[in-house]
Amino acid sequence: YDDRDGFIWMDGKLVEWRSAQVHILTHALHYASSVFEGERCYNGKIFKSREHSERLRKSGELLDMPLPYSVEEIEAAKEAVLKANGLTDAYVRALAWRGAGEDMGVASKRNPIRMAVACWSWGNYYGDAKMKGAKLDIAKWRRPDPATIPHAAKAAGLYMICTMSKHAAEAKGCSDAMMLDFRGYVAEATGANIFFVKDGEVHTPKPDCILNGITRQTVVGMLKGMGVTVHERHILPEELASFEQCWLTGTAAEVTPVGQIGEHTFVVGDLTQRIAADYEKLVRA
Ligand code: PMP
Repeated sequence: YDDRDGFIWMDGKLVEWRSAQVHILTHALHYASSVFEGERCYNGKIFKSREHSERLRKSGELLDMPLPYSVEEIEAAKEAVLKANGLTDAYVRALAWRGAGEDMGVASKRNPIRMAVACWSWGNYYGDAKMKGAKLDIAKWRRPDPATIPHAAKAAGLYMICTMSKHAAEAKGCSDAMMLDFRGYVAEATGANIFFVKDGEVHTPKPDCILNGITRQTVVGMLKGMGVTVHERHILPEELASFEQCWLTGTAAEVTPVGQIGEHTFVVGDLTQRIAADYEKLVRA
């Protein structure tokens, strides 16, 4: 992704894509002092743009790294970078981190808080698996206790176990991994939330130690609007056999049907198809 034409917004300026570099002593690289957002622009408009900008600022606060930009300034940066790259349908990655500076230890208060926004064309996150139903592995790594790490932050440090879990899943021919939480309940995929259907009702993990995704909240609202009962609760992995349908939600994943988790199989049923189609309509509306 580094060697290409285009522009990246960095600390208030548009810079050439290839020149968007940081120093090797960047604090974030050593100590994961980094938060980010993944957003999608459809027909020239970022879906739930302000919610993403607000979450980025909140993630920064949770890491004791208050961003030096307001929601309005972040909104303007995203707009500027999309325009500079001539993109109307794109994935948008906003990133804020502690840069290099006076501090090289764990504390970083004397180092600048930096920010960048990049955007690029990104199709289906799960490729061909998207409409057939993705195959998921069950990860050996568990989502940590909220007393261990601020789970509501979209922080780089929370993704180390996601990358390891996704690598292990891909080595087994799966598209992704479903992670359990520290108590052993079903949590989420490595970059998406998870939903199940049983007897016409929907079950999804309570967001008490996972990222309460913006897509997740949108889909819960859509289901309730359709009159579907949604249970946000603790789900045991032993319950997988009792579910008929399953899908993932996320900005990159959108609504992706799941066909298999470990030994358990699911159908891409009517509700899954309807939610995927309605979400597609909503984001482009
Ligand atoms: N969980 C994790 C771990 C994620 O990385 C993401 C993607 N941001 C999600 C859930 C879904 O969040 P959203 O719908 O806000 O993209």
